[in-house]
Amino acid sequence: MSDFKLWIDGNAVDGASEMDVINPATEEVFATIAKSDKAQVDAAIDSAKAAQLLWAKTSISERQAALSKIADGLNENADDIARTLTQEQGKPSTEAAAEVMYTEAFIRHFATMDLPMEVLQDDESKRVELHRKPLGVVACIIPWNFPLLIIAFKAPLAILAGNAVVIKASPTTPISTAKFAEICASVLPAGVVNTVNDENELGDYLTSHPNIAKVSFTGSSATGKKVMASASNTLKRLTLELGGNDPGIVLPDVNVKETAAKLYGAAFMNCGQVCLALKRTYVHESIYDEMCDELATLANAAVVGDGSNQGTEIGPLNNKMQYEKVKGFLENAKTAGTVIAGGDVPDTKGYFINPTIVRDVKDGDEIVDEEQFGPIMPVIKYADNDDIVGSANGLEFGLGASVWSDDLDRAKEIAMQVESGTVWINTHLDFGPNVPFGGAKQSGIGVEFAQEGLHEFTQVQIINQAK
Ligand code: NAD
Repeated sequence: MSDFKLWIDGNAVDGASEMDVINPATEEVFATIAKSDKAQVDAAIDSAKAAQLLWAKTSISERQAALSKIADGLNENADDIARTLTQEQGKPSTEAAAEVMYTEAFIRHFATMDLPMEVLQDDESKRVELHRKPLGVVACIIPWNFPLLIIAFKAPLAILAGNAVVIKASPTTPISTAKFAEICASVLPAGVVNTVNDENELGDYLTSHPNIAKVSFTGSSATGKKVMASASNTLKRLTLELGGNDPGIVLPDVNVKETAAKLYGAAFMNCGQVCLALKRTYVHESIYDEMCDELATLANAAVVGDGSNQGTEIGPLNNKMQYEKVKGFLENAKTAGTVIAGGDVPDTKGYFINPTIVRDVKDGDEIVDEEQFGPIMPVIKYADNDDIVGSANGLEFGLGASVWSDDLDRAKEIAMQVESGTVWINTHLDFGPNVPFGGAKQSGIGVEFAQEGLHEFTQVQIINQAK
């Protein structure tokens, strides 16, 4: 019997089998969890489909109240869930606590949102109303970097719009999802929130299932393309939040020390495993050496270790596959450029890589062009004559970007030319539940959060009445 269960139709149920969950700081199994087979995917979808018909009949104020109670449940269980996040994901306990806090805050904000009917025309000839109806059952597919917060980007707004959900966690981080589903089961009618767990083999079955109306997916661009293909059979609605390779453009007029600290934070949060992390930093040649040195000083001072130890700033990579991949990038960084901090792995168990700054790299190098999704920061020098916007726009990604300057007009002029869903000025990684978030180009389709994000969980229906 596994330590943690699936949630189907309001009940905690055993899986067809079970799977181990590894603590990436120790490489040891710390818990087991139920694993689904196809019949249990069917059961989760059947339960959601039946529940949704009744849930859609509730008023929006009942659904808002339910979201508030889920936020209360998170608040009451915050310490326990944060500990789970550190154990299964690896992040330092301060970042884990922040993830739970943000999740609660997002859900509290969503609990204040509404879906009012709009009157488009009302005159002597006709009355035209725009209604937003739920879609049905939404599959929410979650990656391993923010296993709890990314659920909050999807399930609460889906539920608020009158849908039911089936949540599929990443194989390496399923326990926080189980704890979230348990809170939901104590608040919502049976079947409105269900979970399935797999080891990467049920995604296609779930996303091609005829009773799934929409897939809200966050993960890599490669998997996103597979989701789009398998969802095409039944023309499912899709929101895809995919990979990024965010550029930062640093103009010559910045305060180097202050800016270095902000750039460093934007690159190394969650050990660099952030879709919106700063992943390639372009620095003007006049301040390049000084900026590289400041960044190296910060990286050399970082405390790397088990996230459950007080004072840890950089935890391990989440899983062995990512660890091996990032070690490969490290080797490339050493041959492509000059490593001025890190570049090695601590001599301990666990998927640790010391925070690495690599300079003297350029567009076209693997370490610049590929999404590292790990603790390596490439810093690229540019000169006045270089086409810096062309560099920023040169990849297939378009998630976020940032421009850094004291000249706000110049920064905005550059920002407006960058092809990405978000461009920050003098900050990076700043987002909130009231601001739509999504990717341009191959970083995604659609947006999450805000009214635009809520609308993605609805079907527009026009009622056009002749007079
Ligand atoms: P991944 O694509 O490997 O997995 C994401 C999820 O998809 C997991 O739950 C996985 O089990 C599932 N999956 C695997 N194969 C599937 C299939 N054929 N059909 C459906 N689902 C399938 O991504 P990951 O390694 O967990 O996460 C890292 C990636 O996610 C990075 O590229 C990162 O940039 C991206 N990401 C994007 C955002 C965003 O909002 N844009 C946020 C976080 C992470």
